Amino acid sequence: MVKLNTHYTKLAGNYLFPEISKRARNRTSTAPLVDLGIGDVTRPLPPAIVQALSQASLEMGNASTFRGYGPSAGYDFLRGAISQYDYKHLIHPEEIFISDGAKCDIANIQEIFCSSNRVAVPDPTYPVYLDTTVMAGRTRLQLKNGRYGGVVYLACTEENNFCPLPPRESCDLVYLCSPNNPTGSAMNRELLKQWVDYAKKTKAILLFDGAYEAYIRSPGIPKSIYEIEGAKEVAIEIRSYSKTAGFTGLRLSYTVIPKALKIFDCGREHSLHALWQRRHDTKFGGAPYPIQKAAEAIYSSPGKEQVREMIEIYSQNAKFLREGLEQLGLTVYGGLDAPYVWCKAPNNLSSWNFFDLLLNQAGIVSVPGSGFGLLGEGFVRFSAFADQTKLTEALTRLRAHL
Ligand SMILES: *Cc1c(COP(=O)(O)O)cnc(C)c1O
Repeated sequence: MVKLNTHYTKLAGNYLFPEISKRARNRTSTAPLVDLGIGDVTRPLPPAIVQALSQASLEMGNASTFRGYGPSAGYDFLRGAISQYDYKHLIHPEEIFISDGAKCDIANIQEIFCSSNRVAVPDPTYPVYLDTTVMAGRTRLQLKNGRYGGVVYLACTEENNFCPLPPRESCDLVYLCSPNNPTGSAMNRELLKQWVDYAKKTKAILLFDGAYEAYIRSPGIPKSIYEIEGAKEVAIEIRSYSKTAGFTGLRLSYTVIPKALKIFDCGREHSLHALWQRRHDTKFGGAPYPIQKAAEAIYSSPGKEQVREMIEIYSQNAKFLREGLEQLGLTVYGGLDAPYVWCKAPNNLSSWNFFDLLLNQAGIVSVPGSGFGLLGEGFVRFSAFADQTKLTEALTRLRAHL
């Protein structure tokens, strides 16, 4: 009889977004919906990227320029551009692995670690870190409060400005996300240094998700974990073109595994880089050539300019939304270095009660913070991936109804 991987039965129901849609359909407000719930980009790809994508697609239809399987870790033209432009040669092209999405890498990287490793995730968190940890069997059952046994939860609260501190207990793999989804906060240099020191001391590995690095505006906030001395020995960095260049529908990302990174087996050291290369060679056929060409165009001078303009629009939106909500007397976080605003529910309302109020009084869709973890309770997340006219409309309605 065929048997299930029982870790999958531990997963909590995926009810958050279906429940949001259901409530949106059954709302009492008659105003057209303003959707500030979505965590997906809304603007079309810039022309320089579209041109590179079309050009590369045409090449695939021509015998002299057709390409089959590419290198499993990505084409040199793209790895070279990333090393040069994203890392100013601090990271060698061979340390960069191109992939078809950060979600996949966040999940796949787990298979290289022993199943008894303890995983730490922020609370509230981007759900992928936690769910893939459950799938991989690194948790016990789900508790009544929604948390899983065996997981180290890193508290992100108003007291620490939603930036997690290294815990007292030991953990082996630590997911960090800065700038953060869902809270919109960004970790400063001192805090990142504390994490690097912690990882060195305890022989842990940091999985640093920099999906929103392009949104950093505050001076002094590191864009990469490798800006911290010694990070190459303890950190993997995952980046994606999804939110930084509008690639959510194209699918492209990369993961940096420095050659200096070590992993241990009964005290013996192994190179994680070599093992990940081995894994890629066996299980991954490389990302599509036209999509890698599209990503290369981001680093051309027209591409750079067009992408910068696009991100600037989302950034302005986030700031506009944050300031508008503040003027209404709400307590808000984020929105300065990330496209998300994390808003405290007034009058001690629960996340879902505030969500319902926004929906039924003003026709605004948000995401209840409790959907991101126990400590997200009492907050909602607004996304700035929307038109400024829609944001203006949302703020006008809130002014009338709150
Ligand atoms: C959107 C997002 C990603 C991007 O994932 P892709 O699979 O590359 O689209 C990664 N991390 C976080 C925190 C995100 O919000």
